[in-house]
Amino acid sequence: MTDARRIVIVGAGPAGVRAAETLVAAGVRPIVLDENARWGGQIYRQPPANGGFQRSKKALYGFEARKADALHTTMAALLPHLDYRPDTLAWACEAGRLDTLNAGREISVPFSHLIIASGATDRVLPVPGWTLPGVYTLGAAQVALKSQGCAIGRRVVLAGTGPLLYLVAYQYVKAGAHVAAVLDTSPLSQQIAAAPKLARLPATFAKGLYYVTWLTTHGVRIEREVSSLAVRGEASVQAIEWRASGSSTATETIACDAVGISFGLKPETQLADLAGCRFRFDAGNRCWLPELDAAGRSSVRGIYLAGDGAGIAGADAAELAGRRAALALLDDLGIAHPRGPGLRDAASLERGLQRIAVFREGIETAFAPPAHCAAQWPDDMIVCRCEEVDAGALRRCIRDGEANEINRLKALTRVGMGRCQGRMCGEAALSLLSEETGKPLDALGRLRSQPPVKPIPLSPALYADGVAEIPAEARDE
Ligand SMILES: Cc1cc2nc3c(=O)[nH]c(=O)nc-3n(C[C@H](O)[C@H](O)[C@H](O)COP(=O)(O)OP(=O)(O)OC[C@H]3O[C@@H](n4cnc5c(N)ncnc54)[C@H](O)[C@@H]3O)c2cc1C
Repeated sequence: MTDARRIVIVGAGPAGVRAAETLVAAGVRPIVLDENARWGGQIYRQPPANGGFQRSKKALYGFEARKADALHTTMAALLPHLDYRPDTLAWACEAGRLDTLNAGREISVPFSHLIIASGATDRVLPVPGWTLPGVYTLGAAQVALKSQGCAIGRRVVLAGTGPLLYLVAYQYVKAGAHVAAVLDTSPLSQQIAAAPKLARLPATFAKGLYYVTWLTTHGVRIEREVSSLAVRGEASVQAIEWRASGSSTATETIACDAVGISFGLKPETQLADLAGCRFRFDAGNRCWLPELDAAGRSSVRGIYLAGDGAGIAGADAAELAGRRAALALLDDLGIAHPRGPGLRDAASLERGLQRIAVFREGIETAFAPPAHCAAQWPDDMIVCRCEEVDAGALRRCIRDGEANEINRLKALTRVGMGRCQGRMCGEAALSLLSEETGKPLDALGRLRSQPPVKPIPLSPALYADGVAEIPAEARDE
């Protein structure tokens, strides 16, 4: 590749791998970088090469084992035709350049064209006790199983809402872990109402129903429409409490030593934001998303987005969108579309994406995050754990009339200003602002991203010889 045509893909999940495959088939050699050590992304995450445990693909990926294997095999075959950079975090992005970190080494990666396929992360909404040791997101609970071959506890409760709730419960029980209960904040009626849209992808819908039925027949307690979730414990998790559907006062409690909790997924859009892409509010995803055309072109020339990082749509959609964005990029470079087995044309990719979009609307209806939960948050509950900002501090700032916009609230209280840069607490702060002001989420501004998009060491010296060692004089902090 000449310097004038330097194509970079961030993310080696379903979207990134299929984008790379399409580019390579057209004779282009992209750089593919991923912060993970191995390709596969979230759903097809591979255990470490020398992880010390063995689980078959069938055990790791269940019904998706064949797709996982196909993606892994594709990427392995592409390696000689790519500049693949694992363990490489893209922590900042500006016009024509990514800043990356690999094993403590700062590497600036210029690009002429960039496909951002950075996927999603859990949607975190706080509940009392959520900062206790032993509380994980549902995604993290699954990462522990896939990547480390372990469960998050001996007696686990999974809570929140979203398809991952039932999938992780199923995977845990199948792997021999003890799931004491599944607590879903969504009502069954909402899930039934979504059935016609979910039925647009009958095989996927059937899998979801299978997980729930399997859990029920294996004696796993499932409670729906729960509210007022609270994790209890002194030094770590000892129990979880909730209010059952229809009850206005009585709470129930179940003992556990670990909790996995989240409320669906949200796209990782920070790199697009730093690159200057225009955003729009998306009611389905309940968040701001980069403006894209049907092919994945952003408002910034040469920058494309694909997969869950452009809006949550799932792994099958991510594969289609990755291919579609790569075709758009080839069009923009005037390179003919590749032909061959598995390589579909742009129109058929877009039709596939539209079909999945209807299913996705069903998922968002079935598993909408609980409305008005921010109204129940006690004043002393931490919302932003990096900066230790509680709900009371945010309420006081809003009620004093000092902040009616999210970046103003951040500036005045430091919510979202710490290590996570709002990736964990941003949605909670926005929900609270919306609850207090009575304004819809889209009228309260968009939390602006700042580099680094994920925590990085202050000094590469901390990583000397690949070992993270904090100098003595810095240890007190
Ligand atoms: C924790 C978690 C678990 C999930 N489990 C399931 C599941 O079991 N079943 C299911 O159907 N769906 C699951 N999903 C959703 C599913 O992962 C996605 O629908 C699908 O993987 C989307 O593919 P993608 O290529 O868009 O993103 P991903 O598969 O998420 O891949 C994105 C890749 O980009 C990399 N990346 C992100 N940011 C950077 C950066 N700044 N620098 C370098 N690399 C970066 C990540 O390391 C990752 O490998 C899960 C999602 C999450 C967040």
